[in-house]
Amino acid sequence: MLWFCFNLEQNIGYNTVRLQSCYPRFLFWGVCYNSKSQRKREVLKLSTRKNRIIIVSVLIAIAIGIGVLIGSLAGYLSLRSAPKTVSESMSSTLPSDWNLSQVSSEEKESSTIAISSVPPVSSNPASSNKPPVSSSASSSKGTSSHPLTDLSKLYPDLYVQPKEIIEHQKGDKVAYLTFDDGPSVLTPKVLDILKQNDIKATFFVVGRSDPQSKNIMKDIVDQGHTIAMHTYTHDYEKIYASPTAFLDDMSKVSDLIEEATGVKPELLRFAGGSVNSYNKAIARQLANDLTRRGYTYYDWNVSAGDAERGATKQSIYQDTINQTVQFEKAVILFHDSGKKHDTVEELPKIIQELKSKGYRFDKLDSSVKPIQFKLPAQ
Ligand SMILES: [Zn+2]
Repeated sequence: MLWFCFNLEQNIGYNTVRLQSCYPRFLFWGVCYNSKSQRKREVLKLSTRKNRIIIVSVLIAIAIGIGVLIGSLAGYLSLRSAPKTVSESMSSTLPSDWNLSQVSSEEKESSTIAISSVPPVSSNPASSNKPPVSSSASSSKGTSSHPLTDLSKLYPDLYVQPKEIIEHQKGDKVAYLTFDDGPSVLTPKVLDILKQNDIKATFFVVGRSDPQSKNIMKDIVDQGHTIAMHTYTHDYEKIYASPTAFLDDMSKVSDLIEEATGVKPELLRFAGGSVNSYNKAIARQLANDLTRRGYTYYDWNVSAGDAERGATKQSIYQDTINQTVQFEKAVILFHDSGKKHDTVEELPKIIQELKSKGYRFDKLDSSVKPIQFKLPAQ
């Protein structure tokens, strides 16, 4: 403002405008306020038409400047108060082998989301809640994406019968190795290591429908491991756009697994975990609906960190061991992709170390009480 005041004086001169001892005065809308005389006003008196034009121009410039300033301030404040966009919030966790739309954020959630004590699913939710199958049910498959959609009328084939929960016995040290994002070219190596150690594990697979991937899925099942769903596309923005979008994606990966292996999957792991930056708004509704359908979803309480940037063989080994020993029942998250050579290389050592610490290894099934993240408030 003082700058404008100064320029005004320079432009129109003292002879024509009464701007005596303008400092420290503040010019606003053609009025000069004298701070010394406590709000005493001096209206600028202009003697020529030219000077009036100059004054008006300067005032317009000031008004525009103020407008821009206010606009910028408002924009800044709205950006600060708005929630982070999904891209911003997740970009720091992008593993090297996923696109932005396919990022795996498990490792981030593993360190930030509290594990809840999960009540066992009801013993028979599937049969008691299965909706009447009608022509409208099948025809409505995947059509609506409104969050308030009555999910009970959708996807009549997405129902399974869970087993009774078997409570974990105190003193029983058990490690559940789980591999997300496969099948991959490295899955056969993982299967070989598991076979050599005579242990079973769980594979949460995505929608790879090429013949080789389907053969690997079959190998997983034939070798006695659990095959489970990890969504078809692993595309956060797509699958978490609405509950029906998720169910639509899930039905595809369920169909693919069943086609490849002859086994209908009963377990799933949400891409990014059950609660993540993309699905907070629908996480509870999804969790409730999947449980109602008889599905069991598993998060994890140990992360190998092998999807994190900067992960090394050493960090994968140490993170896995250091976290696992804190639990008698450890659900350990690994990733299975063509780039996870370090995971595969460290796996035998991890298995040996955990064996030496008294752990047994098992695969997940619905009788294993799930480790699940705490759902957001409704
Ligand atoms: Zn994943």
